Amino acid sequence: MSSTPGILCSCGRRIESREVLQHGYFMNHWKPVWVFVKYRCSRCRMLGEQLVDYSQWDGSILEGETPAGEIDDDEVRRFAEQLRALRPSDLDNLARSLT
Ligand SMILES: [Zn+2]
Repeated sequence: MSSTPGILCSCGRRIESREVLQHGYFMNHWKPVWVFVKYRCSRCRMLGEQLVDYSQWDGSILEGETPAGEIDDDEVRRFAEQLRALRPSDLDNLARSLT
């Protein structure tokens, strides 16, 4: 028995990342509560949708997938480094460029 339920098609097949067409999160106070997944089963070709409790969500099912527009850890780190390297004069310039 697996501890992570994952997503099962009605035919019994366990849905893999490459079969996921779309996914999204339902937020409550900025915390994800449910994960919405739309998939097409590669065995029975059926389209399906499923809501998964976020606490039971196995993120590895989407491993290898890089949705457009999503920020990865590297980008966050670079951004944090840039913020740290900022000098007061940079902020002045930024403020001026925005007005
Ligand atoms: Zn199926």
